[in-house]
Amino acid sequence: MSFKLSELPYKKNSLEPNISAETFEFHYGKHHQGYVTKLNALVQGTELEKKSLAEIILQTTDQVIYNNAAQVFNHTFYWNCMVPEKQTPQEKTLQHIKKKFGSYDAFKEQFITATTTLFGSGWVWLVQNQDETIEIKKTNNAGCPLSSGQKPLLTCDVWEHAYYIDYKNGRKNYVEAWWNLINWEFVEKNI
Ligand code: MN
Repeated sequence: MSFKLSELPYKKNSLEPNISAETFEFHYGKHHQGYVTKLNALVQGTELEKKSLAEIILQTTDQVIYNNAAQVFNHTFYWNCMVPEKQTPQEKTLQHIKKKFGSYDAFKEQFITATTTLFGSGWVWLVQNQDETIEIKKTNNAGCPLSSGQKPLLTCDVWEHAYYIDYKNGRKNYVEAWWNLINWEFVEKNI
C-alpha cells in the first residue's frame, strides 16, 4: 500500500483572496504531491511501507525519509487548519489561550512574531504538551512536533512556497491573511 495525497477539505479557489487557487496548484499540487511521491519511492519494499505516517516520523533514523514523511503529515494538517468561512476560537481553546498567554490578542501577537522570526523555512505551531499546557513552537524545515511528544493543535506553513505567489517576500502579510482562515473548530477538536 502506498501513501496518497489527502483530499483538500475545500476547493482550491475557496480561500481567495487570502490564498489564491494558483498557490494551491503549486503548494498542494506540486509540493505536497512531491513529498508523497518521494516518500512512496523511499519506503517501497522496506519495513516502513506498512507503517503509518506518524510511526514513520517517530521511528525512522533516516533524515531524508523523516523529511518527506513529516512534510506529508504537516501539509495535510495545515490544509485542515484553514476554512473558507471566518471563525472565532471556541471555549476550550480560549480557556487554554487565556491561561497561557493572558489574552487572545497577546497570543495572536506572539504567534505572528514567531512566524516572522523563524529564520529560513519551517512551521509555526500551537501544540499541547503531555501535561496539557499549550505553547507556540517553531520547527525548522520539515520538523514535526510529534517528534518531541507534543500534540499539534494548529500550524502555519512559513516556507516561501506557501506565500511567494501571493505575497512575494511578505511573510507577515501572508500570516495576517492566513489568520482570517483559521479553522478554530479543528483546533478545538485537537485539544
Ligand atoms: Mn509547504
